[in-house]
Amino acid sequence: MSISIEEALAAGASLQTVSDSWRLDVELLLAEVLGKSREHLYAWPSESLGTDQERNFRDLLDRRLAGEPVAYLLGRKAFWDFELQVDSRVLIPRPETECLVEQALQVGKAFSDASPRVADLGTGSGAIAIALARSNPLWLVTAVDISADALELARLNAAQLGAENIEFREGSWCDGLEADEYAMIVANPPYVAEGDRHLQQGDLPFEPAIALVASDSGLGDLSLIIQQSKLVLKKDAWLLLEHGFDQQDRLRTLLANEGFKNIVGHKDYANTDRLVVAQWPG
Ligand code: GLN
Repeated sequence: MSISIEEALAAGASLQTVSDSWRLDVELLLAEVLGKSREHLYAWPSESLGTDQERNFRDLLDRRLAGEPVAYLLGRKAFWDFELQVDSRVLIPRPETECLVEQALQVGKAFSDASPRVADLGTGSGAIAIALARSNPLWLVTAVDISADALELARLNAAQLGAENIEFREGSWCDGLEADEYAMIVANPPYVAEGDRHLQQGDLPFEPAIALVASDSGLGDLSLIIQQSKLVLKKDAWLLLEHGFDQQDRLRTLLANEGFKNIVGHKDYANTDRLVVAQWPG
């Protein structure tokens, strides 16, 4: 006898040991296997799972029990006003990165050029670049990543989401970008310190280390971007950087030492210091 939806949901309680959001996780995985909405699970609790469905569900539960992120199991993650395809080639987009998008759109409102060039460094799944490009179809967005694997997925996401005003480039941060060209550079680079205990927790062990970990207490890539961006930003252009919870003061000092002006820090939705905005005087 196959199990019912209600019994499958009950079996999912095993996830309590690995996930704070175990109930939601189980609902998402079961709904995915059935090809139905989460509401369906509560409307039809006594509906039976087919043999394949039950096997698929138990397989997903086992993988989740072993720590695999829900976003990778589903193969997608909601970000901004769309859904991205994600897998272990890319960092799972975080809600706090939507704050970076929000600030970038705010800064962009003041652009005098109708088609400014904007770069997203370390684009990963393409999350930031796609959000900016879709909100501003006239912007010319350059999405950079050092990982050809990540770029492949970012390209796919852009195509599926109809973001045509993005060009993709394989490279390290500002390498290969044109000098004195960009009205804005945004980045959510790796900023977790090597050996940080968070790397062993939650989804992080399954994500690409190259997207998470940076040298110099997590500031290595952020400092490189600050130095390199000076060459490619236009006069009075903007640099927006996501950073770790305890890095804002050091970043502000770094930016000031490198000659940036109008340096403003922002918090994320959890009230944690999360990003800096700074202007390059040229
Ligand atoms: N905010 C992520 C985390 O700590 C890290 C992302 C990043 O390094 N850019 O989970």
